[in-house]
Amino acid sequence: MNENKYRNTKQREQILNILLKDKSHPTASDIYDKMKVQFPDLSLGTVYRNLNILVEQGKIQKLDFGSTYDHYDGNCCYHSHFVCRQCKKVYDLGCIEDDIEKVQQTTNHKIESCLKKYYGVCENCL
Ligand SMILES: [Zn+2]
Ligand SMILES: [Zn+2]
Repeated sequence: MNENKYRNTKQREQILNILLKDKSHPTASDIYDKMKVQFPDLSLGTVYRNLNILVEQGKIQKLDFGSTYDHYDGNCCYHSHFVCRQCKKVYDLGCIEDDIEKVQQTTNHKIESCLKKYYGVCENCL
């Protein structure tokens, strides 16, 4: 039981490490592929479960781009994204903390997340 818990913690730490280093906004299966070498008995379900826990803890963000898979982001500050419709790559754009500040100053809402998305064709594909 304890050993299980320890292993889960290790796996979760590793998922977080991957997301902090990998700026490409990987999907759960991308992360799973990277983890398999180190954790051969890992299942995709476990990766999903750990990702959800990390999202709940506010350590990572889940990004919904309307595609089949959710993407995950280790960058938790408010920033916007650009999605290329050809290669499906997700790029980080600038910080949008100023926008959030403005909204919070002009309304009484407390903003907890903001995901701005821009769609188009990236410079590599052009
Ligand atoms: Zn592209
Ligand atoms: Zn991002």
